[in-house]
Amino acid sequence: MINPKLQDAINAQINAEFWSAYLYLSMAMHFESEGNAGIANWFRIQFKEEQAHAEIFINYLNSRGGRVQLAPIAAVKTSWGSILEAFEDTLEHENKVTALINDLYALAEAEHDYATRGKLDWFVAEQVEEEESCKNIIDRLKLVGDNGMAIYMLDQELGARTYTVPAPLAAKGE
Ligand code: MG
Repeated sequence: MINPKLQDAINAQINAEFWSAYLYLSMAMHFESEGNAGIANWFRIQFKEEQAHAEIFINYLNSRGGRVQLAPIAAVKTSWGSILEAFEDTLEHENKVTALINDLYALAEAEHDYATRGKLDWFVAEQVEEEESCKNIIDRLKLVGDNGMAIYMLDQELGARTYTVPAPLAAKGE
């Protein structure tokens, strides 16, 4: 049975993951309407990944005999002035998520909950990837400025991104 402090913290993390999903879906819808189909595709996959993160925590809390409680999802921004602005918002948000995962990790250690700490290792590594891929796109956007052909090529490239079920969910056959 999981301790109540960790149960509350994991429930808060489930909400944060769904908020992330909602933010990225909002970005996808913005770029869909702007005609940047490839960028929209990238954010749609980001949306699916965040839902998967929430599900991983949901399954984990259930497996520990905890009780999942879903809270309201706060509103998200609905439009962005540029592609760069959206990716800068993404990086800023992912930095916050990294801090949340680290806080959760510290709490698991303080409460001697080593099962939760172990479960979080995958998320720690995932955050490194999230920050890195976002930073790479920001660097390229800064490099190309408003060069239409370069933006078109980036849109094509991001349009080729496909969804892969994250390992902790794939392992459960979901
Ligand atoms: Mg996440």
